[in-house]
Amino acid sequence: MFDKSKFFQTDLVCPVCKIKFKQLKLKGGAFRTKTRDIDLCNTYEGINPNLYSSIVCPECGYANLDHSFQNKLSDVVISVMQKELPKSKIYKKDLTGERDYESAIEAYEQAIFCANAAGHSASLLAGIYFRMTCLAKSFGSSNEDEYRLKAAEFYEKAYDHEEFPLGGKMSQTLVEYMISSLYFKLNKLEQSIYWLNFSISRDPKGLTDPKAYTMIKELWMTVKSIIKK
Ligand SMILES: [Zn+2]
Repeated sequence: MFDKSKFFQTDLVCPVCKIKFKQLKLKGGAFRTKTRDIDLCNTYEGINPNLYSSIVCPECGYANLDHSFQNKLSDVVISVMQKELPKSKIYKKDLTGERDYESAIEAYEQAIFCANAAGHSASLLAGIYFRMTCLAKSFGSSNEDEYRLKAAEFYEKAYDHEEFPLGGKMSQTLVEYMISSLYFKLNKLEQSIYWLNFSISRDPKGLTDPKAYTMIKELWMTVKSIIKK
């Protein structure tokens, strides 16, 4: 049942069509992080915040992750969007209210459509696929690994072509950990080990990001114990 007390409305302006609209957002107290898995997907008590992290304009369909939605777009990107968005699957569909798993995935797919059309960065696409992975995981969807593989591939692409910290936030070591743990969860141990080794030999003392370095070491121990069996 929809519990109004867990949400508030926020005012947004679409960077493509410039309309103002209200978006339902979760209050901080609507969920609590219970556990964090090796792949950095959290489990939550209460409402899963990943249901609401892709924003879609109800008028033109422009979509992006919440922290990037209102970023200014170039005139070129705006005109590409104006041309491409009417062809998208959820053009003029209103996803600003309560969401279930399916509508949240639609919102992420729309963000992917926009990121591809706009030529946004691989790290943004990686972040979208990573959130989809965690959401699929918590809802028990069979698409989990399909999203996870995409997340790994886009993090690898971002690793090769973008500057650190990635997206202004993720250290080089943390990205190495992400790629390695995503491959670990996909049971692609060879790729997982490659990234662990690479990370440790690139920065043997863990100076780039000591916290992520500890995570790398822990993952290495886990992988080693599996190989031994
Ligand atoms: Zn719009």
